[in-house]
Amino acid sequence: ARVSVSVLGLGLMGTALATAFMGAGHDVTVWNRTHARTGPLAARGARPALTPSEAVALSDVTVLCLTHNAAVEDIFAVLGGQVTGKTLVNLTNGTPEQARALSRWATAQGARYVDGGIMAVPQMIGGPHAYVFYSGDEEAFRAYRPLFAALGGTRFVGTDPGLASVHDLALLTGMYGMFVGVSHAFALARSEGIAAGDLAGPLSEWIGAMLLGVPADAEAVDSGEHRTDVSNLLVNQAALTNFTATYRARGLDTAFFEQLQSMLDRAVDRGHGADGLSRLVDVITK
Ligand code: NDP
Repeated sequence: ARVSVSVLGLGLMGTALATAFMGAGHDVTVWNRTHARTGPLAARGARPALTPSEAVALSDVTVLCLTHNAAVEDIFAVLGGQVTGKTLVNLTNGTPEQARALSRWATAQGARYVDGGIMAVPQMIGGPHAYVFYSGDEEAFRAYRPLFAALGGTRFVGTDPGLASVHDLALLTGMYGMFVGVSHAFALARSEGIAAGDLAGPLSEWIGAMLLGVPADAEAVDSGEHRTDVSNLLVNQAALTNFTATYRARGLDTAFFEQLQSMLDRAVDRGHGADGLSRLVDVITK
């Protein structure tokens, strides 16, 4: 069914969201702080609004996708009681605490609040690999799931509005860890005249092979049983000195390895030397 939806924020992501909604045949209104950015979407049939209030009034559902939740708060403050009876869907990256506070505000105004974490880059929106984590008002989520499906997969993770953010931040944490590692690998290779392009193949293959260990690590974390026959903390602790020494000898930054060394040292000091790397989760948990 055709849904009236307003998209607030037409940056790279907001534009992709609005485009996908239009592609699915929905009735789309758009608003952006810098009004000129509504032009290309308006040319393709979206209705440009001059203010957030006008945009919210024109649709049943309002999707927000701004730089940060401070911008969302500013807009909510202007909207006040005009959101009563509306569904607000915040797909801006933020913290669980921010999502819970925004939800409390929206609910107090008589609006339904759904928070979301987008697991895609703009180019993936509407494609087979994109999906969004949703949490908050489950009734609103179910009612508008066909609308959300225009963006990609829809994964509802709970009625606590902070849970989409928790899932989003957790997955991105894994991603950042990978990118930090990959950047270090390229820097080391480059310091010895090896092109990143020559390392890319074996590096992705290796990371892919290591990813197969994630389910076993999850089992260890959930059971608290970290004993391993793969590779224990003592042997990793010994190997890590080779990384610090090699990077230092080439004038490369060693902060990443010092941090890892400190985590391994703490786990070993607590008597976990025979355990696998999954034990680091207890060092992170203060
Ligand atoms: P952009 O920088 O492309 O767009 C930012 C948008 O926020 C613009 O529309 C900008 O308006 C608006 N904005 C910023 N501050 C304010 C404010 N104070 N009041 C009103 N509007 C404001 O960012 P993206 O579109 O890439 O990202 C948007 C959100 O989506 C972020 O939270 C990001 O983390 C998340 N996201 C992005 C992904 C990506 O790959 N790009 C992936 C997953 C999530 P103006 O045009 O006037 O500057």
